[in-house]
Amino acid sequence: MSKSNKDVTLNPFEIALKQLDEAADLINLESGMRDVLANPKRVLTVSLPIKMDNGKIQVFTGFRSQHNDARGPFKGGIRYHPQVTIEEVKALSMWMTWKCAIADIPYGGGKGGIICNPKEMSEIELERLTRRYAYSIADIIGPRTDIPAPDVYTGGKEMAWIMDTYSALKGNFGQPEIITGKPLAIGGSLGRTEATGRGLTFTVREAAKKLAVDLKQATVAIQGFGNAGQYAGQLLEDHGAKIVAVSDSRAAILNKNGLNLEGLRNHKEKNGSVAGFPEAKAISGEEIIETECTILIPAALENQITQKNASRISAKIVAEAANGPTTPEADEILFKNKILLIPDILANGGGVTVSYFEWLQNLRREYWTESDVNERLDKNISKAFADVYNAHEKHGVNMRKASTLLAIEKVAEATRIRGLWP
Ligand code: GLU
Repeated sequence: MSKSNKDVTLNPFEIALKQLDEAADLINLESGMRDVLANPKRVLTVSLPIKMDNGKIQVFTGFRSQHNDARGPFKGGIRYHPQVTIEEVKALSMWMTWKCAIADIPYGGGKGGIICNPKEMSEIELERLTRRYAYSIADIIGPRTDIPAPDVYTGGKEMAWIMDTYSALKGNFGQPEIITGKPLAIGGSLGRTEATGRGLTFTVREAAKKLAVDLKQATVAIQGFGNAGQYAGQLLEDHGAKIVAVSDSRAAILNKNGLNLEGLRNHKEKNGSVAGFPEAKAISGEEIIETECTILIPAALENQITQKNASRISAKIVAEAANGPTTPEADEILFKNKILLIPDILANGGGVTVSYFEWLQNLRREYWTESDVNERLDKNISKAFADVYNAHEKHGVNMRKASTLLAIEKVAEATRIRGLWP
């Protein structure tokens, strides 16, 4: 480990490659197979001209990275964010491949993104941008080839526009199975909205059992109060835990006696941020990671837990709702400090797992009950947690390495069995 206070790299794709290499070393993976897994199968960049509300044309850039489809169609979300880069999207698509393998669902990994700031765009500009993007990637996605979904700053609304655009382009009949995370009215699944937070809560419950942590006595800090962070908080509260600190992109707040989550959600809805929530103290965005708590949930973006702050984390469990929030250097520090990190590809796998259930319902033209969805999710993710935890004990490595090596084994096996053609 480097002695300086800096992480070797914050480039997400370099980090993903390093994780791949370290896990591949542990299972002596042959070099040709490493190269197959290191390179996304296809990365598309698209230029997206949109007529803005002021009458002027603005050109946005979008990406779709299709990492690997040895185990099934590419699968993964689409994010809208000013800081999206091609390297980030490539890394996220690789992590999707591992995530689907760990969850044991028959998909590979993909990811998309558009460099934009949706908070500064009108509804109609967003619709035009989304439809243009769907049109531009329509030839490489499909219900049996690549199935997108929501990610940072996208949700049911965008999924509906993509479903509609794709359906209109490809024969003009409704094809709900092209995308997941849709609103219920057009074939969405009950339980999908809460799925990432719910899956994460199941993994925390399993981790708490292993560490003999009583969730009723536990305190929780959440960085990021979007979809995953909000539902994880709510569900952990249902287990008796106290949410003591929450942040979003504008502010961070703390109340050691516990925040009233319902009130906080209403406050955010009204004011656009957790800032100024009464009965809470404002803290700095950096402090949230170091908050005294039992469970820390990074639920925002990449590179939040780094060599700079990892040694000051007091939590017993870190559950990654975000993708890639912890750098490799920080991983080592947490492992040394005996903090159990539930890695993104396991902790937030509930989202894509229920996406899979949604896709199955669409293909079969079925509707499942919410309790059916939640029970299947629990079974699936608890098994994934047990597999990863056992590998972590067996190999004496952190949970990230354990999960990556299990995923690599599965994807490499599928690749080997299929062989190369042409
Ligand atoms: N964007 C989510 C993720 O990172 C969900 C992907 C999906 O449902 O396909 O896992």
